[in-house]
Amino acid sequence: MQYIIGIGANIGDTLINIRTAIETIEQSQNIKILKKSSLYSSDALLKDDAPEDWDIKYLNAAIKIETDLEPLELLDYLKQVEQIIGRNLNAPVWSPRVIDLDILAAEDLVLKTDKLTIPHKEILNRSFALLPLLEIKNDWQHPEYLNLDLDKHILTLSKLEKLKQRISGTMRMGICNLSSQSFSDGHLTDSQRLENFYQLIDDGAEIIDLGAESTKLKATEVKTDDEFNKLDEFLRLIKNNIKNLKYRPLISIDTRKTEVIRKILEKHNDIISMINDVECNDIDEKAKLIAKYNKNYVMTHNLGIINRDKYLDKDNAIKEVVDFFLVRKQSLIRAGVREENIYFDLGFGFSKKAEVAQLLLKNINDIQKIIKFKSLIGHSRKPSILNLPKDSSIEDLDQATKKLTAILEQQSINIVRVHKI
Ligand code: ADP
Ligand code: MG
Repeated sequence: MQYIIGIGANIGDTLINIRTAIETIEQSQNIKILKKSSLYSSDALLKDDAPEDWDIKYLNAAIKIETDLEPLELLDYLKQVEQIIGRNLNAPVWSPRVIDLDILAAEDLVLKTDKLTIPHKEILNRSFALLPLLEIKNDWQHPEYLNLDLDKHILTLSKLEKLKQRISGTMRMGICNLSSQSFSDGHLTDSQRLENFYQLIDDGAEIIDLGAESTKLKATEVKTDDEFNKLDEFLRLIKNNIKNLKYRPLISIDTRKTEVIRKILEKHNDIISMINDVECNDIDEKAKLIAKYNKNYVMTHNLGIINRDKYLDKDNAIKEVVDFFLVRKQSLIRAGVREENIYFDLGFGFSKKAEVAQLLLKNINDIQKIIKFKSLIGHSRKPSILNLPKDSSIEDLDQATKKLTAILEQQSINIVRVHKI
């Protein structure tokens, strides 16, 4: 039997929850996913007397699946997946939720029991369920309203916005530099940085990486307080606004300092999903913080950030990189960081000549098999991995970045970190 499942989430790392639900279903032995809709944004549907803080925008999507499970068995399974992701099944009806999985339709089946109604009772009243369903199956008809003109009917429902963010495949991490020393956008004013932040979201960035220290060669070191203040100022500025955005991005903090991680998580834990660390020193202390706050962590290979005179030797490159990650993995796991929350970045631009960078990229799948982390690639505007001369224009670098991004997406890299989407 083919079913269409509606998916919604409005608290926590909403997009990650939706993706995890889809991946969990994908891995189940007796269910095959046949089709996935785009991602949509909708206003929360609330009763008049609902608490004000329930009014949080939702992300919505739908998938079509094929399975031998009976409707009630499928409902039980979906409830299990909701629980794995952390849904509180005792929370009040209509309250915000980390995930909601509903059966919207099942071929021509009409079912009405206490536990389950198919098609979903409210399907015709809810644009956030009906529109993703119609995107997947545009000739769908409600078995009890066969004469209903759905195109016309949709116009009577609340509006629904289709997003450029995706529910599966490679996630795009947009770079938002707050440092005036930054290599390619150090010259931006504060309001241009803010504009860049919102532009990246409009363009479809699933994650935004905020950094207040430049790691370009010869950048002067930023003091911990200055770096923290810059990040803090920006986070305070966006905090209220992002609540009302059609897409609330996953926020990553690009820092290599333990104290910055500690202070920024103490203050902004609620909106931060990820720490992106280019140096990975002081790993035991960092691991404690990542575990305590249950964040995602990106480990970047490097041979020093302040002293950049060392280069990775080609003969040992793969082994050295693997060892670098495995040693730190032990610390992270020991501290209680969950393996699925760890990403590795080969560190292009850090201690790798072009030939070595290319060699590592070619072998990324083998490296990933050994270390078992998810992959992040930072190739944007980096001549060594883009095969371009060092003095290339930003336009040429961006064009080559786009081309390589397309290839990396084909290879199922988990995250690409880019200046432009
Ligand atoms: P919501 O109505 O917000 O989706 P729940 O996910 O908690 O709330 O669902 C409440 C109950 O609705 C479920 O436990 C289930 O028994 C019942 N239900 C009836 N029809 C359906 C359907 N088509 N899909 C999912 N749940 C359904
Ligand atoms: Mg439900």
